[in-house]
Amino acid sequence: MEYFVITYTGKPIGESGESCSTEYILDEACETCGTGAKLSGSLKTKKLNKAKKNFFQTVDGDYLISEELHIKLVEKGIKIGDLDKVVDFKNNQLTFYHLYTELSFPKTTNFSGLIIDSQCQTCKRNGYFNDVIIGDLEKNIPTKVIPLELNYSDLNLDLKKQSDFFNSWEHMGLSNREAKGNLVVRYARPMLIVSERLKIVLEEERLENLKFDVIKID
Ligand SMILES: [Zn+2]
Repeated sequence: MEYFVITYTGKPIGESGESCSTEYILDEACETCGTGAKLSGSLKTKKLNKAKKNFFQTVDGDYLISEELHIKLVEKGIKIGDLDKVVDFKNNQLTFYHLYTELSFPKTTNFSGLIIDSQCQTCKRNGYFNDVIIGDLEKNIPTKVIPLELNYSDLNLDLKKQSDFFNSWEHMGLSNREAKGNLVVRYARPMLIVSERLKIVLEEERLENLKFDVIKID
C-alpha cells in the first residue's frame, strides 16, 4: 500500500478552530507553543454557508468533507473512523464532516519540499512551510510549489491497519499557546497523509485542487 501527502491548492473556505472558540486539550501538547493540541468536541466554524465543494481546507488549515463524500467513503469501506460534523458558532451542526484523526505518522527521516522557519525550540515540531519558487506576475511566471517528498523507515504495520488517513508528525506554520499582545492562540496543523485506497476514491470523485505527493517508505 502506498501513501500520499495531500496539498490543497484551492482557495480556502471559511474559518475554523481557535479563531471560532473551538476547545482543545493541551495535555500532550508542547508546553511552550501548544503544537499537538487535540480537539475537544466538535470543530467550530464560521462562514461556511457558501461552501459547495466536497473536499476543502479552511483558512485555518482544517480539512472538511461533504456529507455526500462521507457517505461514499463509508460505502467503499474506507477507514475514516467516526468523524464528527462541524458546528457553527451557536453549536448547530452543519452538513460538513471534519476529516480529523489523532493517528500520526512518526517523524520523517528526511524530506524535501519543506523549509523550516521560526520553529519552536522545545518541540521542533512546528515551523514547517511548503518551499516555493516565487513567480513573476509581470512576466507571467506562476509561483511554483516544490514537490513534497517525505521519507520514512520502518512504518508500524499496526498503525497502517487502523486508518486510511493520518497526520504527519511535522506541523505546518507557527503555533502560539497563549494570547499575548498582537498574538492570538494558534496551533499549527499537521499535514494530511492518505492511503492509496482513499486517494483512489478521491480521484474517482474528480475533486479539484488536490495534489498528491507519494511518500517513500524504506
Ligand atoms: Zn513547541
